[in-house]
Amino acid sequence: MTTKKITGAGGVTIPKELRAELNIPIGTVVDIDTDGEYIMIRKHIPVCHFCRGIENVKNIMGMEICKDCAKKIYIQAGAGK
Ligand SMILES: [Zn+2]
Repeated sequence: MTTKKITGAGGVTIPKELRAELNIPIGTVVDIDTDGEYIMIRKHIPVCHFCRGIENVKNIMGMEICKDCAKKIYIQAGAGK
């Protein structure tokens, strides 16, 4: 275990060794959550804004959307006609 002090901005540095072990390079987007006792940090998992699915999710214009939902929107918008 490593003990760290929270900075004035509320930040905490993840030790280099841990980042290397978990392959989390500088600039990686992470998800932060809590179970009420622990703070959990993991690499961001893209989740579809519409169906909450995690398969084939891409960030399109700042919104994470899966291939199926993108296709539905494309069809409903009457695109491709
Ligand atoms: Zn979706």
